[in-house]
Amino acid sequence: MAIKVDVDTLEGFRQGVPALLDILADQGVQASFFLALGPDNSGRALLRVFRQEGFLEKMWRTRAPALYGFRTMCYGTVLPAPLIGAAAPELPRRIAAAGHEVGLHGYDHVRWHDHLLRLPAAAVAREVGLAQELFSSLLGRRAVSFAAPGWQCSEPSRAVLAAQGFLYASDTRGATPYWPRFANSVSRLLEIPTTLPTLDELLGFNGCRPQDFTELILTRLQSGPPQVLTIHAEVEGGPYRQEFARLLKRCRRQGVDFFRLEDWARELLRDEAGIPVAQVSSRRLPGRAGRVSCQETPERKPV
Ligand SMILES: [Zn+2]
Repeated sequence: MAIKVDVDTLEGFRQGVPALLDILADQGVQASFFLALGPDNSGRALLRVFRQEGFLEKMWRTRAPALYGFRTMCYGTVLPAPLIGAAAPELPRRIAAAGHEVGLHGYDHVRWHDHLLRLPAAAVAREVGLAQELFSSLLGRRAVSFAAPGWQCSEPSRAVLAAQGFLYASDTRGATPYWPRFANSVSRLLEIPTTLPTLDELLGFNGCRPQDFTELILTRLQSGPPQVLTIHAEVEGGPYRQEFARLLKRCRRQGVDFFRLEDWARELLRDEAGIPVAQVSSRRLPGRAGRVSCQETPERKPV
């Protein structure tokens, strides 16, 4: 299983990441971190209440103010948006030094999440370029991996990532690695989707408790292809860190093999013809507000 850590906010970066580094070190697990390094505009996400079906329900069910904190929910509205990367510039190197993968989770998480499908390619290229600039200034190299905020990707966003030389992306929800097909083209950038539901989606859904989520993940790991679990620095590195530590401990006991997405991508790309093509569609998922980019059934046809 790969642990994909999305870091969306200043709070998640400063508080959640160090907590997760400790838990991962305790269990000897290497993960893949994806950082949004630009402005924390989390407060603007509140405007989704008026736009997105299911957002208010999710806010209430996951008790979002407790998860994210009152301050975070004001950034970009009544409080200015702080720059995430600048708040702890030493932290990305610390993540890498512990043996984890470090990739990008966009520049302005809220802008990408809420507006990607309306952004022209030049604006998407600017977002990725700004993120790369910050990444390079902090780590002394360019990022090779990208995970789209809110699992939002488009034909132009994939073209931008491919043109900027990324090795692979993890932009969608799905079952297996693939080449994403869009209306006019097949992306030549390998996609490794998130395969498992997330804790914040299932929490409170049909009475789901954190321990029920752990059991569900353990059951899913017992068979089938390698799985990708997305966690959030603000959630599993925040109020649910003990449950996350318990999950890793149980996985270890069950003999689950952990790998980093970048290593898996390099292995997969040794046999490009063996990777299937699959259509990308925009769908609703249980427990998640709005729509996300999803993999359809693979075509089993090499590109
Ligand atoms: Zn995110």
